[in-house]
Amino acid sequence: MTDSFKTDSRQMLGRLRAVMAEDAGGQTRLNQITRLIAEEMHSEVCSIYLFRDEDTLELCATEGLKAEAVHQTRMRLGEGLVGRVARTGSVINTDDAPSAPGFRFMAETGEEAYSSFLGVLIQRLGEKLGVLVVQSKQARLFSDEEVYAVEVVAMVLAEMAELGAFVGEGAAMSALHSQPVMFRGGCGQEGHAQGHVWLHEPRVVVTNPIAEDPAQELERLHEAVETLRVGVDRMLNSAVAGEKDHLDVLETYRMFANSKGWMRRMEANIDSGLSAEAAVEKEQSAARARMSQVGDAYLRERLHDLDDLSNRLLRILTGQGRETGAEMPPDPILVARNIGPAELLDYGRSLKGIVLEEGAVGSHAAIVARALAIPLVIHAGRVTTEALNGDLMLVDGDQGIAHLRPNETVVAAFRDKMAMQAQAQERYASIRELPAETRCGARVKLKMNAGLMADLPSLEGSGAEGVGLFRTELQFLIRNYMPKRAELSELYARVMDAAKGQRVVFRTLDIGSDKVLPYMKPTDEPNPAMGWRAVRVGLDKPGVMRMQLQALIRAAKGRPLTVMFPFIAQHDEFTAARAEMDKAMARERILGHPVPERIEVGAMLETPALAFASDDFYAQVDFVSVGGNDLKQFFFAADRENERVRRRYDTLNVSFLNFLEGIVYRCATLGTPLSFCGEDAGRPVEAACLAAIGFRTLSMRPASIGPVKSLLRAIDLGDLRDIIHAERARGAQSVREAAMEYLRAHL
Ligand code: PEP
Ligand code: MG
Repeated sequence: MTDSFKTDSRQMLGRLRAVMAEDAGGQTRLNQITRLIAEEMHSEVCSIYLFRDEDTLELCATEGLKAEAVHQTRMRLGEGLVGRVARTGSVINTDDAPSAPGFRFMAETGEEAYSSFLGVLIQRLGEKLGVLVVQSKQARLFSDEEVYAVEVVAMVLAEMAELGAFVGEGAAMSALHSQPVMFRGGCGQEGHAQGHVWLHEPRVVVTNPIAEDPAQELERLHEAVETLRVGVDRMLNSAVAGEKDHLDVLETYRMFANSKGWMRRMEANIDSGLSAEAAVEKEQSAARARMSQVGDAYLRERLHDLDDLSNRLLRILTGQGRETGAEMPPDPILVARNIGPAELLDYGRSLKGIVLEEGAVGSHAAIVARALAIPLVIHAGRVTTEALNGDLMLVDGDQGIAHLRPNETVVAAFRDKMAMQAQAQERYASIRELPAETRCGARVKLKMNAGLMADLPSLEGSGAEGVGLFRTELQFLIRNYMPKRAELSELYARVMDAAKGQRVVFRTLDIGSDKVLPYMKPTDEPNPAMGWRAVRVGLDKPGVMRMQLQALIRAAKGRPLTVMFPFIAQHDEFTAARAEMDKAMARERILGHPVPERIEVGAMLETPALAFASDDFYAQVDFVSVGGNDLKQFFFAADRENERVRRRYDTLNVSFLNFLEGIVYRCATLGTPLSFCGEDAGRPVEAACLAAIGFRTLSMRPASIGPVKSLLRAIDLGDLRDIIHAERARGAQSVREAAMEYLRAHL
């Protein structure tokens, strides 16, 4: 590199600051910026390409290429060198652009004369805004310093774009966070909601990306990092020894906070002319870019920790706390990267909807959202980067779609859908007191699934005939400590009180698999869904199970009690669990405590094996409840939490219906009461087919009782059964289409 090519990023940023200080329109600014970068880089060309939509880039300003091409030349993500930079996020630096893989010749820009090409992504915290390109006639590779300088400038451009510096005159760029965006994620909890964004973690705004005095910025950075370290140490000292995961995160924070590499890179950023805040953000952006490419879950978690730590540092530097003073908007839709169950419960029913960037179907947050019946969309792309507090948002939990800042047409269509649902709700309310009796006179009992105190009001409002599944693990999941026996007993008693004599089926702790208690040592299992979970844990380490059974007996205060053991795979597991129940009863009698006047002990049928257990099992058990969520995943060998496969097999697949029919038959011939309590029980079409093959008790989310009852009351199970038989005889794979045709006519 000759001296004349030496590029000083500080000088470049100084000139950039001067451009920004002028009162000019967005296009003028961009034009000035391309000119000054070309000059500072001693190159003939500098161009700025910005995203027009998710996958189209547009040439928005250039020095050196033909002016007529501005706002005309467009390319798709991945197309040409610019598109490649945009897609991969990696720098392209070549001295022979026409020979570089992916080069696309664009005659309209007159670029054939340029050999060297340097393209850098313009991004802010993982949000891609465009590509900054420098080209020159002379065939040369840009030096590391030059590449770094262009990266720094690109970062400042992104910061300025965030502040709206390029909006306005010439339509160089429309304001960020103002366009409609649709997020196609996954369904965490069904339902629809319209409301306004409430960010769980407010965004930090950096208003001064360029340093006026680097020495002072260095000092600010050092002071802030010191404050951060002291804070992390304090958190570590006050953390509870038992909270292993929490301690692990804090230890990681400490490691990063003391990391010399992290510090050095931030110092170098300041040295190149960035302010302390921008220096932290540049590092954070790089970490986020890595995060999106890391496949390993553990490493991704660590990068998240680094991201959290950077946010803390930014808050210290900018003085912007978590409490921004912003008021929660009306009809809040919570937007977060992820959220813990306890935090979600704190928001409670005030939320209209939840949209998470991560999350999983079986995550604790999803379990709580489900219990609170709040529509939840998971895996919603970069929603935390895009959404601003107060933005209008529509949540379609059924489809797993969230519309941010939707246009009028989308809003109107969505409102129509919600109005239709509201009408349906009114219809359901009018039949609340009526039984779920079909036209052919079959009586189906509809019960509700519950697990939180927040569910109890639904017992009355939904028209449920008792609780068919009380998931007791939720009380264990939402705490940071193991609940005490007295605490549980009091809670179970309140549940029974609320049920006013209707039966409540308490399922004993179903932990393991996806449900890991925050205060228990996680077991490292290759396949937790088929691992040490539920009753397997209860029988191997009976302490907690015994405590829970005792709490249940005491809660009953002499009233009848119903207990169900989850995940029974073979007869002797049930025998052993039942023996624990008998022992607990005997102990309570010896202690002189009142014991339930009647006790029923059932098993959840969640593994295909149990369907084929001996007649003795069916005779011994007081009732069987089919846990369709687990049963289906094991029947089809398709993980219920894996988006790729979880919808692949239809519940109304003939093989599965045949299998379920076999269970109905066995229970009927052996006189074993039977119910179904998986999610499918709450889906009207599935529920109707379950009733048609003989299920007479279905337990579901409270909100599903109305729709299921309404449909059941309109149909003839004999007709539907005939359709199922006919489809089977014809060799259909699923009865859905034919069943839907019949049911639609009766809606
Ligand atoms: C089931 O597996 O169907 C069930 C009801 O239990 P859970 O969803 O809690 O595993
Ligand atoms: Mg289950």
